[in-house]
Amino acid sequence: MTDIDRIKDEMILAASRAYTRGIQTGNGGNFSARVPGKDLMVLKSSGGSFMDATRDNLLITDFAGKLVEGNGKPTREALLHGFIYQAAPQVNGVMHCHSPWAIAWAATGQDLDKVTYHQELKFGCPIAVIDVKSPVVRAEDFPLIEALLKKYPQLPGFVLADHGVVAVGDNIVNAEHNAELIEETAQVAFLKALAAKLAI
Ligand SMILES: [Zn+2]
Repeated sequence: MTDIDRIKDEMILAASRAYTRGIQTGNGGNFSARVPGKDLMVLKSSGGSFMDATRDNLLITDFAGKLVEGNGKPTREALLHGFIYQAAPQVNGVMHCHSPWAIAWAATGQDLDKVTYHQELKFGCPIAVIDVKSPVVRAEDFPLIEALLKKYPQLPGFVLADHGVVAVGDNIVNAEHNAELIEETAQVAFLKALAAKLAI
């Protein structure tokens, strides 16, 4: 098995986990993995569901989202993936999901910070909420993300207001695990805020 096929199989597993867990429904979201040693990434094509990912419909693009290999249209969010790989050499996988609890929590404008012991132990840093006021992250928004990646080298991801989670990891499976934990942490944060209101 080639390195690329192994990476594609990890991506298919991660996408299936994300869909089954319900952190991405329908045909939204996207995910990618770095091609080792090259300025290239393997990327979900635009329009397909996470559950439809196969070795044949995953694309290879450069970090600007230009198609290098495969049939299909790269996601318009390819630029964000490419930017993260350039800014953070430790990141080899990016999972982007339109996860409902995280999006809802982002409306508070507050970072997810010290919500659970598990968050602190696993992440060791807050999950920032970033409001770029655009449906896609544009090049002019990248400095915000670069600053986060520099401040927290172990950063597991962040939340885009009115949009979703961008989780990263040293491989795509770990990036997906981080996406699940960010969504779970947002759900707990929401319910904790509600419980505090209900408490007598
Ligand atoms: Zn998106």
